[in-house]
Amino acid sequence: MKTPCLEIRYETLVGNTRSVVEFCSRYGVEVWGVTKGCCGMPEVARAMLEGGVAGIGESRTANLQRIRAAGITAPTLMLRLPHISEAPSIVEQFDMSLNSELATIEALNSAAAALRKRHGIILMVDLGDLREGLWPDRVLATAEQVMRLDHIELLGVGTNLTCYGGVIPTEANLGLLVRLAQQVEQMLGLRLRFISGGNTSTLPLMAAGGLPAGINMLRIGEAILLGTESIHRTPWPGTRQDAFVLHAEVIECATKPSVPIGTTGEDGFGGHPVFQDRGLIRRAIVNIGRQDVLLESLACIEPGMDILGASSDHLILDVTHAEHEVRVGDIVSFRIGYGTLLQAMTSPYVCKRIV
Ligand SMILES: *Cc1c(COP(=O)(O)O)cnc(C)c1O
Repeated sequence: MKTPCLEIRYETLVGNTRSVVEFCSRYGVEVWGVTKGCCGMPEVARAMLEGGVAGIGESRTANLQRIRAAGITAPTLMLRLPHISEAPSIVEQFDMSLNSELATIEALNSAAAALRKRHGIILMVDLGDLREGLWPDRVLATAEQVMRLDHIELLGVGTNLTCYGGVIPTEANLGLLVRLAQQVEQMLGLRLRFISGGNTSTLPLMAAGGLPAGINMLRIGEAILLGTESIHRTPWPGTRQDAFVLHAEVIECATKPSVPIGTTGEDGFGGHPVFQDRGLIRRAIVNIGRQDVLLESLACIEPGMDILGASSDHLILDVTHAEHEVRVGDIVSFRIGYGTLLQAMTSPYVCKRIV
């Protein structure tokens, strides 16, 4: 095996998708699979489609290009607000996009006119998480302006929560989204196809029976990819948490002290590390570092191994209490969270292996 290596389990992703899609369908909600956590890896998109998602959501045009180049023709949704300078490629590649700025929507309209196309949009509403979205009192006026654009189709309203502000979806905040959708429909005399009620963090509200009627779409990444909900990061029922496993190789293993010797200053990243004195310990170094992983989003699978810290290319473990004696050349495997998934997928130094 080439190391370091991110193992990607295709059938686990299909199974996780099926489980989430089936659960949501009981509430009349369709699932769009979000591939941005894996740099738009085509096989991941394919697994999600095989598992029954209605379409693919991506946050970057470069990722979607890879998906299209692999021959995947499913409906696509741009998740990040488009930037005006990329309007032509958004319209060319994506069937629809999430939007909050009229100037951008006008640019999409011009780009769509040039391509003799219509581009669908979902107007994003900020319900308090303070990332993207129109403030609720701006929704009606903006929807009215959008209706004047010949090459734009207003397909719905949506929101995104628990991403920046950590705001949890509730009957109250998502209820406001549904009411705004109804007002838009009444005022403009149309029927909105989508009321898009958020991401993985909306699943627990659904399970508790609190999803307001009318929400009919979710955009799901984490619950499918990692099998966790994103409020407390507990396992999501019916999914597996091991669709991705990271493997690294031991490049040194020795018995050394647990506290540095000598006067200490800053570490390689400007931090001032504190060390717990565990006496003499077995220390293993493996061949990944901060360039490939997010330390807070990584855990050894084998019991008795602890992550002590990392520099850019070295991850240091305490393997004193490992179940087997660790030697140079051994492979150590890690469970990963969203931060490490993103970073390992982005790092060209980590090989990706689909099994
Ligand atoms: C990333 C993202 C999602 C998916 O979020 P998960 O928590 O991974 O389910 C949905 N919508 C938008 C706008 C996003 O940026």
